[in-house]
Amino acid sequence: MGSISTETGEDTGESVRMPLPSDPKTGSLKRDYQHSIFVNRSLALENVKCFGFDMDYTLAQYKSPDYEAMGFELLRDRLVSIGYPHELLQYTYDPSYPTRGLVFDTMFGNLLKVDSHGNILVCAHGFSFLRGSEMQEYYPSRFIRKDNTDRYYILNTLFNLSETYLYSCLVDFFTRSTRYTNLQKGFQHGDLFMSFRSMFQDVREAMDYVHESGSLKEKTLKNLEKYVVKDPRLPLLLSRMKEVAKMFLATNSDYNYTEAIMSYLFDYPHGPKHDWTTFFDLIVVDTKKPLFFAEGTVLRQVDTQTGKLRIGTYTGDLQPGTVYAGGSSDIVCDLLEVKGKDILYVGDHIFGDILKSKKKQGWKTYLVVPELARELQVWTEKSQMFEELKTLDLFLAEHYKNLDSGSTECPDISIIQTRIKNLTRRMDLCYGRMGSLLRYGSRQTLFASQLMRYADLYSPSCLNLLYYSFRYLFRAPPLLMPHESTVDHIPLDLPVFNSSITNHVLTLTDAKRKCEQGKMEERENF
Ligand SMILES: [Mg+2]
Repeated sequence: MGSISTETGEDTGESVRMPLPSDPKTGSLKRDYQHSIFVNRSLALENVKCFGFDMDYTLAQYKSPDYEAMGFELLRDRLVSIGYPHELLQYTYDPSYPTRGLVFDTMFGNLLKVDSHGNILVCAHGFSFLRGSEMQEYYPSRFIRKDNTDRYYILNTLFNLSETYLYSCLVDFFTRSTRYTNLQKGFQHGDLFMSFRSMFQDVREAMDYVHESGSLKEKTLKNLEKYVVKDPRLPLLLSRMKEVAKMFLATNSDYNYTEAIMSYLFDYPHGPKHDWTTFFDLIVVDTKKPLFFAEGTVLRQVDTQTGKLRIGTYTGDLQPGTVYAGGSSDIVCDLLEVKGKDILYVGDHIFGDILKSKKKQGWKTYLVVPELARELQVWTEKSQMFEELKTLDLFLAEHYKNLDSGSTECPDISIIQTRIKNLTRRMDLCYGRMGSLLRYGSRQTLFASQLMRYADLYSPSCLNLLYYSFRYLFRAPPLLMPHESTVDHIPLDLPVFNSSITNHVLTLTDAKRKCEQGKMEERENF
């Protein structure tokens, strides 16, 4: 137990526990890999003039798996209430099954894990994983046109986890039920046909209902301790940030929910009172991202007494303490008098927060990836599996080492291929039944490729900014192209230098010496 002092000498309360030890001499927070921020593109933190935050799953971390389980139950119950079979109530949320970033095929009802080009890495129908030949019946080229958004739906957000699991439960139930006949595009029951597409639409509508009716919010607010992570480092981080840059909050949640969640996050009864609104120069709710990063919506003032919106578009200057609704990223820049390149925006939604803010506005981006904590744990603990995969790749190369275009020999690599396949699946299972968010063996997922392309920085939590100086220069590690990672540099150690190179240098030196000697003789003769 211990208290946390901010740089301004404030104390966030004696009853709060500091999760990490600080250096007793310097008081600085120690950083390990779980508290690291990872870099795709170099970024000088001292050039950031403004920090922007999303709220849900960014400042407010929801407790997993309780929160997803609650979302799943609300969705499942909604489907039963609109006529789906009561037997579905037997399904409960299993956090070990779904992974974020999967694609649902609304034509065949399959959950797919794909790479950045749409090549299928894993395919599941209900809870059955399809093998090569079974998969080829659905996808002859083992490839999908992921830009066919009418057919393929990408489950990219943390809110989608409960929905992902529900698709598996529905397909599993109808496939195994004797009342229904399995067809390629759905299920037949008497003269009733239920397509995977209509099932998908029902789940999507149930999802909208759960979010818009307020049932998810209501349940969350009734039991905040169960569903929302409260961390004393948050007021510490924001108070330090406020000292060095402007701050804004841009959330899709409405004002009443935002007010309740943020008040809870900053409420420490034994410490100094923090009015959460004082940490921000600008607060915008109901932002409707990703629309917010394009044309946006009408900017309105919120009456914080009633939570209602004032009529008319707000056109005045920034007023301290005022909460706004709607608007756009351009309006944020205008009100705060900052340029897009000066903003570091922290969010958890790869599409709504990161991709759009980067592509449309050129903001610097920081993606919060809570799963990274688990990904790093597997990466460090199961390193022998990654080594084994590299060794198998070397074995494979060895078979072809002495063969060229004139060879007729056909090496039998089937055993190695089977071992690679089995190892890849074993590696994937270390993360959960649908595997890693970011990779499948040595291949990267669609989510991983988007993360690398659009997030300048990424980390399991926004709180990890606490472990870096605000003058820190985040340097991206060199990204090697295949020709660079395959071909080694010539070592700089002279004794192992290639003799021909050494001789070449000596010959040049010798020629230069002879030339100078010749010039001298020429001058002397003249
Ligand atoms: Mg969010």
